[in-house]
Amino acid sequence: MPSLAEWPTDAPCVDCGKRTPGLLFGNRCEMCRIARERRASKRAGRISLLAAGLMAAYLIWRPFPGGMQGRIYAGVAVLVTYLLVRRIASRILFETMPAGTGEPPTE
Ligand SMILES: [Zn+2]
Repeated sequence: MPSLAEWPTDAPCVDCGKRTPGLLFGNRCEMCRIARERRASKRAGRISLLAAGLMAAYLIWRPFPGGMQGRIYAGVAVLVTYLLVRRIASRILFETMPAGTGEPPTE
């Protein structure tokens, strides 16, 4: 006998309200999840570009030690800032964004 968590359900999607077989309570259907991920990714891209720009500005304006090696570290710092901020912002936006318009993603 399967556990209660494995029983098939068709709970409504928390965003669009459409009932989908296999969906658990409090989850989003596949279409809503993908649309939400795309919107979160777009916004996170803009936020992380701004953060990487601020990091680059900080590294340019401060006294720059280390010559060529310092420049390489500065480049790595900007890249890591971009990637980390993008990942964190994307996750936070995915969880906290208000529900979409309910229409399927374009493209
Ligand atoms: Zn949905």
